[in-house]
Amino acid sequence: MSRKTYRGKYVKRGSTRDMKNPAYAKFRHDVRERDGNACKWPGCGSRSRLEVHHIRTWSAYPSMRFDICNGITLCNKCHKKVTGSEDVFADFFIKILEWNMIEKIKKMDKKKKKDEDG
Ligand SMILES: [Zn+2]
Repeated sequence: MSRKTYRGKYVKRGSTRDMKNPAYAKFRHDVRERDGNACKWPGCGSRSRLEVHHIRTWSAYPSMRFDICNGITLCNKCHKKVTGSEDVFADFFIKILEWNMIEKIKKMDKKKKKDEDG
């Protein structure tokens, strides 16, 4: 088995994450900013203990690790519901991001119309 030690724990190769990697730090920052620094789980909206979830997993989709389209902000509690069932939730999260984008565009259009009328 391809295993190596990481901070004293045995982990699968390729699953280690360097939290200090600038690309990873930027990814986490950008996803949280896009999501308004709140948990995106429907009905939650918590602003504490936020984490960035990878919709397509870190280990199976290396090319999407730092793609903000592949990230969604969840609080620690909601993130736990998903861990281990990432594949089951992937389409659900993609839908949430779609709705968010549609809402953002609607808001922008409303503001634009208001500015033009005013
Ligand atoms: Zn939450």
